Amino acid sequence: MQRTFSIVKPDAVRKGHTGAVLAMIEAAGFRLVAIKRLSISKQQAAGFYAVHAQRPFFNSLTDFMSSGPIFVMVLEKENAIADLRKLMGATNPANAEEGTIRKKFAGSIEENTIHGSDAEETASFEIGYFFAGYELYTTT
Ligand code: GDP
Repeated sequence: MQRTFSIVKPDAVRKGHTGAVLAMIEAAGFRLVAIKRLSISKQQAAGFYAVHAQRPFFNSLTDFMSSGPIFVMVLEKENAIADLRKLMGATNPANAEEGTIRKKFAGSIEENTIHGSDAEETASFEIGYFFAGYELYTTT
């Protein structure tokens, strides 16, 4: 069993797509271990996306991620990291495959509905950025 971290981004929350995104995730076999609604500051967004600090879109990305409420969550499944990336689709929705979350809901390369961790180390950093241990402890 593997855990990954995901965000329903502000564009999707604004448009009322949160439930539909979660339904696609659950239908794909992920278990929702933890979820919460947050509004993060630009600085908190910058810390989360620190690996992208030198990218030209960093300022715009951190503005976007702090522009409204998000849902942060931890998902569990065999091969969760790679399988969620597949379900999300390409970063640019213009290149996303049919049946993916971004193909269905994303409006642009930036306002692309969902985040998913890209590797094990990233997943543990990202889970720890938003969740305390007691929020993730499960016995069933
Ligand atoms: P992801 O792993 O598919 O989310 O993509 P990246 O890690 O490369 O980028 C992180 C996030 O930055 C993306 O999900 C987009 O919201 C945003 N982003 C990526 N590339 C671009 C770009 O070229 N322009 C803009 N404006 N935003 C981008």
